[in-house]
Amino acid sequence: MTEPKAQNITWHEGHLSRAERERRHGHRGVTLWFTGLSGSGKSTVARQVELLLAQRGHYVYTLDGDNVRYGLCSDLGFSPQDRSENIRRIGEVCKLFTDAGTLTLAAFVSPYRADRGRVRAILEQGDFLEIYVAADLSVCEARDPKGLYKKARAGEIAEFTGVSAPYEAPEQPEMTLHTERDAVDVCARQVVAYLAERGFIPKAEA
Ligand code: ADP
Repeated sequence: MTEPKAQNITWHEGHLSRAERERRHGHRGVTLWFTGLSGSGKSTVARQVELLLAQRGHYVYTLDGDNVRYGLCSDLGFSPQDRSENIRRIGEVCKLFTDAGTLTLAAFVSPYRADRGRVRAILEQGDFLEIYVAADLSVCEARDPKGLYKKARAGEIAEFTGVSAPYEAPEQPEMTLHTERDAVDVCARQVVAYLAERGFIPKAEA
């Protein structure tokens, strides 16, 4: 945790413990952190996971890509420093959602290993599941769902991950999804199965 600038501040505990919230929800709070190149499928898979979890009646919330840049991170750009601060803030939000007993999905390129490591450290032990959404750059570029690679190749976007800025793949992610090989629904079901096998959510009734 970074030292707060403010002095004379005190951490207050609420009346409802996290354990009590989780008991009421019928599942644990946890952060699922999807990382990968632009176009690898983070948003698409996260949205499908969200749907599957919501269909089970679970509490789920998705923090996704550009959305946070309209508000929480509207003062940040794409320099390495700004990207780090962007991820740090999102990590703090994930910590709050997780403490609230929510299945929290975060879909961000988050290209730097150190930044993702810091989010893992911000969260309680076991609350951070790193999910590497793996697809070759050539595949992501061929998909180019938002036309960003085209713009980056034309020099219209500076510091674009995979083209003119680095992507550092996770070394020991909890899960790797292969979106070139497996369909969206297959990837999403792998994530839900992982959560059930490890007791984050109840196993589905047969
Ligand atoms: P990201 O969030 O990683 O930038 P998006 O989810 O926005 O990526 O875009 C991924 C694109 O790839 C979408 O157009 C999606 O339909 C397509 N796609 C094809 N196969 C898959 C798959 N198996 N998983 C996820 N996305 C896939």
